[in-house]
Amino acid sequence: MKEGDILGHEFMGEVVEVGSAITSISRGDRVIVPFPIACGDCWYCQEGLWALCDNSNPNSWMLEKLYGDTGAGIFGYSHLYGGYAGGQAEYVRVPFADTGLEKVPAELGDEKVLFLTDILPTGYQAAENCNIRKGDTVAVWGCGPVGLLAMKCAWHLGAGKVFAIDRFPERLEMARINCKAETLNYEETDITEALHNMTGGRGPDSCIDAVGMEAQGTGFEAAYDTVKQTLHLENDRPIALRQLIKACRKGGTISVPGVYSGFVDKMPMGAIFAKGLTLRAGQTHVQKYLRPLMRLIETGEIDSSFLITHRMSLNDAPMGYELFDRKQDGCVKIVLRPQGTSQTVH
Ligand SMILES: [Zn+2]
Repeated sequence: MKEGDILGHEFMGEVVEVGSAITSISRGDRVIVPFPIACGDCWYCQEGLWALCDNSNPNSWMLEKLYGDTGAGIFGYSHLYGGYAGGQAEYVRVPFADTGLEKVPAELGDEKVLFLTDILPTGYQAAENCNIRKGDTVAVWGCGPVGLLAMKCAWHLGAGKVFAIDRFPERLEMARINCKAETLNYEETDITEALHNMTGGRGPDSCIDAVGMEAQGTGFEAAYDTVKQTLHLENDRPIALRQLIKACRKGGTISVPGVYSGFVDKMPMGAIFAKGLTLRAGQTHVQKYLRPLMRLIETGEIDSSFLITHRMSLNDAPMGYELFDRKQDGCVKIVLRPQGTSQTVH
């Protein structure tokens, strides 16, 4: 990040101006904006792998050096991903608007559709990556917004049992009440043992890591990762990921919507191999899911607005960041609105 960068990659609003090449969107349209910026023409976009677009990240050389290839540009998401100004602002410029923007039907309120920009498709892709068969057991690490929506989508795709793992009682409560999950607090329970006991000794059919690189944990492993990260000997803390790999049943699937940035230590490759696990990960191809998920919202089959715990003016965003970071006041998701407009950003 650089000083003056504008954050925000989940936003919607009203179109105030369009470029001369834009044909599908007009001034006055109310639209949602997917977080990955995608050209629509390259091989990856044509394959529906929008978040892997080859043409939208002007700083692709940075990622090529680090990872061997680039991902799509992302709004308000660091210079590695293009340095695009994000949506926590009164106005935002949206490149490739013909392939990215989706008009919102007038009868759907902002809060019903806002999360189509990221976390609803992300939760859906996370569940879809599990290849759920009817009646499967799915365990989700992390009861933040993505984890909770992954639980809802797992049910929608046919899961027979959903487990939720976290340490914050209010989030576990949300998982239990809103997402019909059986909950486990990792500070109080041996997760692997509990999940094995609850699945006839086998472990869940699939496990979703909705935690990512900033995992908290208990015991030696958590201390190991914190020390190594502090000494810059490891980028990310894969505590949850190791636990998932250990808990998953043989032949099961690990789905990783949680973000990882670089190198992790003590990755149990032996367990992945010995247990024949499938590992799927990556940013979400939001554009691919927009229309099908919009239909599920219209019919009332999926509603993600239960996540919103706070509503604030854009001017109060710094307070919102603090609240979210410290997990105070039961904060799960904050909706920001610029004063005096109907525009909504997250
Ligand atoms: Zn592309």
